[in-house]
Amino acid sequence: MDKIKLIFSLIQVSFQAKFANRNQLLAYQQKKIVLHLKYMVLRSPYFSMFKGKALNQYPLMNKAVMMEHFDRMNTVGIIKSEAIEIAVEAENSRDFTPKINGVTIGMSSGTSGNKGLFLVSEADKNQYVKAIYSKVLKPLKLRKTRVALFFRANSNLYESVRSLLLVFRFWDLTKALDPQIREMESYNPHILVAPPTLLNLLAIEKLAGRLQCQPEKIISVAEVLEDDVRRRIETAFGLIVQQLYQCTEGFLGSTCAIGTIHLHEDFIHFEKKWVDKENGRFYPIITDFTRKTQPIIRYELNDILVEAPPCSCGSVFQAISKIEGRSDDIFTFEKKDGILHIFPDQIRNCILVASDGVSNYQVRQTGTKLAQFAIQVQEDFSLDKEANHIKKGLEELFRKKGVEVTVELTEWEEIPVYQKQRRIHNRL
Ligand SMILES: [Zn+2]
Repeated sequence: MDKIKLIFSLIQVSFQAKFANRNQLLAYQQKKIVLHLKYMVLRSPYFSMFKGKALNQYPLMNKAVMMEHFDRMNTVGIIKSEAIEIAVEAENSRDFTPKINGVTIGMSSGTSGNKGLFLVSEADKNQYVKAIYSKVLKPLKLRKTRVALFFRANSNLYESVRSLLLVFRFWDLTKALDPQIREMESYNPHILVAPPTLLNLLAIEKLAGRLQCQPEKIISVAEVLEDDVRRRIETAFGLIVQQLYQCTEGFLGSTCAIGTIHLHEDFIHFEKKWVDKENGRFYPIITDFTRKTQPIIRYELNDILVEAPPCSCGSVFQAISKIEGRSDDIFTFEKKDGILHIFPDQIRNCILVASDGVSNYQVRQTGTKLAQFAIQVQEDFSLDKEANHIKKGLEELFRKKGVEVTVELTEWEEIPVYQKQRRIHNRL
């Protein structure tokens, strides 16, 4: 990236719009969205047909829609087949950043094998760096700050900030972990960024006295951060774990100083598609009004978010009490009067109430009336006994909700750390 430009944009961060109240924020969003849509109808052949329409008259999109209309939707004339070819080649060799005319091509694997393609221009990248700097990395002392990142795939976005006060080192979760953890330890990072699965491993090491490093900031990325894991990390390192809510579709949220996740409404507009309004659960529909290369307009995500009341930190941005999981983490059962949803949190709570001794668990819906689970227990606890408590607890949960579900104990399924970890998953 153009260093001078980046430095300018980082200076701008300090002067960026601050909002005295929510109405000011909404007015700002409106203004930005109007400009953004004007740009899109001129530059994106797909969106040209919506000229003059308001945002709420635009159709919803998701990954499937985006991929179907990829060629006509992006504003830089990149063809899907060409982009895939280049991305696959880069993935296989793992040693270069795939680009077409200066636009970086990213590929996301997708759970059902449907690959998503993402385009990031230098300007988009600049915007991202600005956001990550202002939201996450800014409150640091004036000194070279060492950042350690554990990723499943090297994210070249972060490298853009390398030249400033931040030094980054990347470790690859697909490679042997032990030697990398030792390397990280001697690197002694000020900031540690990793998925919760790895942070959990590090916390266990730290509590056992086998890990010496003491970061000043720990940031959890890429997976749901569950409460028991969060508590373990916080106890081990004596600090609040921060969370980044980030996916290929955008940099959607991050935690404030007191640990609440706020949505990044200064550059993304969120609509709520309610899935359980009574309890504040919704799927976000996002419009990123800064991303110019690949339009993200009314893009529906399948993450289940839970809204929270305004945060005592005073931020005007929507507070989220948690990112609960994805739509395919919800268990569904047929009842006479319709479909019953059991949300991941209901299962989590049930397990935490049923057993004190469980250290890790997996619960899967594997049949229309069948749920399977596996557990690991803490030292001094009997697996059989804890499994029995949990089996009873789950059966009771389903019964209370009005469905008869068979609950079975199964073998623990080892999932390598480089794969996305999901404790609760609907496999149907
Ligand atoms: Zn807050």
